[in-house]
Amino acid sequence: MTDSTFLPFTRPDIDAATIAAVGEVLTSGWITSGPKMQAFEAQLSALFAGRPVRAFANGTSTMEVALRMANLGAGDEVITTALTWVATANVIVAVGARPVFVDVDPVTRNISLDAVEAAITARTRAIIPVYLAGLPVDMDRLYSIARKHGLRVIEDAAQAIDSRWRGERIGAIGDLVSFSFHANKNINSVEGGCLVMNSEAEALRAERLRLQGVIRTGPDGMEVEEPGGKFNLSDVHAAVGIGQLARLESITRRRAALAECYADAVADARLAELGVGLPPRADPAGALTNWHMFQVELPVDRMLGARAATMQALRARGIGSGVHYPALHLFKFYRAQGWREGMLPHTERLGRSLLTLPLFPAMTDTDPARVVSALVAVMGELS
Ligand SMILES: *Cc1c(COP(=O)(O)O)cnc(C)c1O
Repeated sequence: MTDSTFLPFTRPDIDAATIAAVGEVLTSGWITSGPKMQAFEAQLSALFAGRPVRAFANGTSTMEVALRMANLGAGDEVITTALTWVATANVIVAVGARPVFVDVDPVTRNISLDAVEAAITARTRAIIPVYLAGLPVDMDRLYSIARKHGLRVIEDAAQAIDSRWRGERIGAIGDLVSFSFHANKNINSVEGGCLVMNSEAEALRAERLRLQGVIRTGPDGMEVEEPGGKFNLSDVHAAVGIGQLARLESITRRRAALAECYADAVADARLAELGVGLPPRADPAGALTNWHMFQVELPVDRMLGARAATMQALRARGIGSGVHYPALHLFKFYRAQGWREGMLPHTERLGRSLLTLPLFPAMTDTDPARVVSALVAVMGELS
C-alpha cells in the first residue's frame, strides 16, 4: 500500500489560484487581519442573506464569543448534545456556565428537541444544537421552543456550511450561528471560523471580544470596557477562505453526488441487512445536509474487536476512517460533574459505533463502492 493509493476519510483541496493569492498576501506588507479578512466577511455576509458576519481564528473561539455575546455565565444552564466535538461543551465551561446534555434522536443523530423541552428549567438560558455531519435540526420547532421560553440559540453549525432548511441556507436564518473553517470542514481557511449575528451592534461587540476588548478612540487613544480574547483571523488565512468560498457550490454538489454513489453501493451490498445503520438523507420536514460526513453505525456488539479492529482492517486495505465522536459526557472532566453511562443511551451507543467513511470532492465515483465492499469484507472477517 502506497500513500498515493491510500484513501483518507477526508482531504483538503487548495487550488493553485488560492496558493497564488496567499503568496500575494505574504508579500503585500500586511499579513495579519486586514483587507482580506474584511473581504472574506463581506462575501460570507452575502452568502447569509446580508446578515452581519465576523471572522475568527477558529470555530471554537467563534463559539466562545457567541456565548459571551449571549451573556452566559455562572449559574446559567445551556442545553446541548454530547455527540459532538468536545469544543461544543468546553466553551460552555469556559464562560462559567453549566452544560446540560440531552440525548440525540437515533435517526438524525442530532439533539432531540423533545429532550430539549423536557430539560428546560428556570436556570436555562440557551440551547446549542449541533448539525452533525451537516444535517440541520427542525429549525421551526427549535426556534418555537426558544421563543416560548425566552432562550438564546447558539447554533454550532461548524459542519453545516451550505446546508439548508426549507431551501434557506443555515446561517441565513436563526439567532447566533457559528461556523468553522478548520482544514477538515467542507471549506477551510486552514484554521478559522465565522459568526453570523442579528445586528450591527452585535457585530461591533463581537469585533471587540475578538481582540482584547480594545476600542480605538481617535488617532492615539484606546479604551477597554469588556476584556476580550485574541481570536482574530489573519489575511493569510482569509485568502485561503476566499479561494475556498468561490468553490462552495461545486463542493456541495460533488459531495451530494458522492453520497448518491454511497447510497447505491450500500443498497447493492445490502449493508442494512448486515445490521449497519445508515446516515439519514434528508429530513422530510425540510432539512438538507451538505454531506460533511458519511457515517455508518456498526453492529459493534456482534463484531470481534468492534470499531477499532474495523478501522485497522480498513487501513490495511488502504482505506482511512474516523470517529466523530465519542460521547463526551463520559470524559473524565464531565464525569466529575456527575455525568454517567446510561444517562444518554442513544448518544452512548452511537459514540461507540459510528464510523466516518471517506467522503471528499476529489474522490472518484467508484471509490464509495470500493469502500463499501472493503467494509463488508472486514465485517465478514470480524464476525
Ligand atoms: C470543528 C468543530 C468545532 C470547532 O471548530 P475549530 O475550528 O476546530 O475550533 C466545533 N464544533 C463542531 C461540531 C465541529 O465540528
